[in-house]
Amino acid sequence: MKIDRLIVATAIVLAGHWSPARAGDLAIVGAKVYVAPDAAPIARATVLMRDGRIAAVGAADEVAVPSSARVLDGQGAVVVAGFWNSHVHMLELPLREAASRPAAELSRALEATFTRWGFTTVFDISSIPGNTFALRRRVDAGEVSGPTILTTDAPFFPKDGTPIYVQALFRQIHAPNMEVASVPQAQARARQQLSDGADGLKLFAGAIVLRDVLPMDKAIASAIVQAAHRAGKPAFAHPTNMEGLEISMASGVDVLAHTTPTAGPWSPAFAARLVAARMALTPTLSLFEEGLKQEGAPPEVVKRFLDTSQQQVAAFVKAGGELLFGTDVGYIDVTDTRREYELMAGAGLDWRQILASLTTHPAKRFGRDARKGRIAPGMDGDVVVLYGDPARDAAAFADVKYTVRAGKVIYEAPVRPVR
Ligand SMILES: [Zn+2]
Repeated sequence: MKIDRLIVATAIVLAGHWSPARAGDLAIVGAKVYVAPDAAPIARATVLMRDGRIAAVGAADEVAVPSSARVLDGQGAVVVAGFWNSHVHMLELPLREAASRPAAELSRALEATFTRWGFTTVFDISSIPGNTFALRRRVDAGEVSGPTILTTDAPFFPKDGTPIYVQALFRQIHAPNMEVASVPQAQARARQQLSDGADGLKLFAGAIVLRDVLPMDKAIASAIVQAAHRAGKPAFAHPTNMEGLEISMASGVDVLAHTTPTAGPWSPAFAARLVAARMALTPTLSLFEEGLKQEGAPPEVVKRFLDTSQQQVAAFVKAGGELLFGTDVGYIDVTDTRREYELMAGAGLDWRQILASLTTHPAKRFGRDARKGRIAPGMDGDVVVLYGDPARDAAAFADVKYTVRAGKVIYEAPVRPVR
């Protein structure tokens, strides 16, 4: 009895000095850590995670690592908060058949598409009705490995405005019609999707149909945005052209899902209007390049589109606008994020602005900044370990060694061959 008491007493005393080791502790040791885009780096730091959260971060001699913790060697590496991809879709196989596909297959696809690139949170801004809820349930249950998933569920298209580029797919899989023809119809569907668990709503302010861009009726767009706002959720818009931008502003949309390369350059005054309307912007620069190349557009056309998109991003940021990183992956099949970082840097953004678009901006915009976006005690244990320092080259954001979500390694790069 005495010995038992002694052990308990000793454990209590020790707990006062060192945190007791628990199964599942994870420590990244020896890395350079950027705790936030606007913070100075901590050299040779330790990040300790416990019970899914960040337990401590600081210089190696300030943070004790329990002997039972799994230790990741961070020497030469850089640690940043887990990334958000704020423009994705679950339209490709196997992810668009989330309810019926084997868990291992879905886990592999989520790794290849998202976690391998450092994404610990993704916002699906419109997919097949109900499908992303099913995927999220399987990830949340621990059956499928993947990122935190937010979704708008099904998109809202104008009447006769199902975009030309998704018509064949929707026919093939017998997707329901997602067009809205009246305010009551839009309100009813918006309410239904939000009560089903949607984290926002996505509307097509300008839908690309045959040889034309079909605008959404302003009253319908406003009804959808108001439904989202009443539920405390954001509204996204696919703007396409100047009219779509005006409808987005007039209806109170929160996030523009793309720049609008066909609309020509954004003047400082126009960029200031977008910012005054409190809109965030997802640039999707590499999408335009890839999409035009796949259509066989001549190089000078691709360059003109890219130049315009980059000008719009630069004008928006100069006016004080907030960027959210996003690639449209799941609509395009390019998963590699390197080109998007290169093009963002080419638009004049520095690495801290790019990091903010990956972390603090989306966390704040989507109401998760108390738990996500920075590395600090109490925050979710979502971090990315990079091979290189993005302060030297923004493309380093694409070179991921480990992705950690809720204190667990969910992606680990294969060991590199020695050259
Ligand atoms: Zn998209």
